[in-house]
Amino acid sequence: MVSWEETPPEEAEEPIRKEIMERRGRSMKEEYTNLWEKGVYACPLCGARLFDSGAKFKSGTKWPSFRKPIEGAIKEKQDFSYGMIRSEIVCAKCGLHLGHAFDDGRECGDSHPEGGRRYCVLSSALDFKK
Ligand SMILES: [Zn+2]
Repeated sequence: MVSWEETPPEEAEEPIRKEIMERRGRSMKEEYTNLWEKGVYACPLCGARLFDSGAKFKSGTKWPSFRKPIEGAIKEKQDFSYGMIRSEIVCAKCGLHLGHAFDDGRECGDSHPEGGRRYCVLSSALDFKK
């Protein structure tokens, strides 16, 4: 199992980020990693509700991290890119790449007492709604 330290460098995600931003026609500066307001994180392409703010936690990484998605909102598939086996997460409705899921929740971050799954999501693949 891959730990969060081995998450690929940000550059690896730039093409995805760029594609999303081009489709959205919005700035790439948006950053949700340190946003702690109550609300819902939705898919920027189809508007499906993906994560509740209550499931967000401080992971110590530079990506927004969640304990669990809204039920049925995302799909996971195996990703063999960058020489690793990871679980890629995509929007269940439109298939947009959201990030990856890891089983290292217990070791990363200070507010994930139940441990288990960590959903590591790109800020650019989220639309925050209050
Ligand atoms: Zn979607």
